[in-house]
Amino acid sequence: MHSIEKNLAQIRLQIEQAASEYNRDSHNISLLAVSKKKLPADLRSAYSCGQRDFGENFLQEAQAKMRDLPDLDIIWHFIGPVQSNKTRALAESFDWVHCVDRLKIARRLSDQRPESMPPLNICIQVNIDLETSKSGVAPDGIVAIAEAICNLPKIRLRGLMAIPAQQSRFELQREPFAKLRQALHDLQQRGLDCDTLSMGMSHDMRAAIAEGSTLVRIGTAIFGERL
Ligand SMILES: *Cc1c(COP(=O)(O)O)cnc(C)c1O
Repeated sequence: MHSIEKNLAQIRLQIEQAASEYNRDSHNISLLAVSKKKLPADLRSAYSCGQRDFGENFLQEAQAKMRDLPDLDIIWHFIGPVQSNKTRALAESFDWVHCVDRLKIARRLSDQRPESMPPLNICIQVNIDLETSKSGVAPDGIVAIAEAICNLPKIRLRGLMAIPAQQSRFELQREPFAKLRQALHDLQQRGLDCDTLSMGMSHDMRAAIAEGSTLVRIGTAIFGERL
């Protein structure tokens, strides 16, 4: 069996196992295959195993893959940092943008989303551990930006996303994910129609699922190490 096929089967099994361990319905956990720095042929292999959601971090690299794979019905997620001068291209070619952390960026994405396309799905990136080196909205700023984003016509606010500080111990991995889960719950209590917790990568997927992740972003464990 091709290694991507084997790895995908393995990850799907791990999602099933974690879901049953933590009383989750695995249908509520989607798998985003993070294909940055990987070749179009690798995406094609994963696609042929039924994978439909792919995550890319770099706009030009993603655009090249879109041109290479026009025959595939891929759902494209942008998971890299968003600069103002990239919003038009993102709004025109992606289905999701996960790293929105400024209202200005959300406004541009809404203004630039073509009328013919459905609203762009976005997540607010949260700097959940308040790391100075990381982008993201501070936890106490989530409500204000979320309420403003909800009023934008061509954006659909789906939920929250975070990349916590690296931890090797499972119990420590869970803490920031639990905070993000609580933050999403608070938005839902305020009546915002959000359903997504974009959290969990290859090294902390199980902890993320334990804390309610609805979308895990997995690169290395599917495609192997990046060079
Ligand atoms: C690269 C990346 C991932 C995937 O990380 P792996 O450790 O390879 O699973 C997930 N999310 C974001 C935002 C990334 O940049």
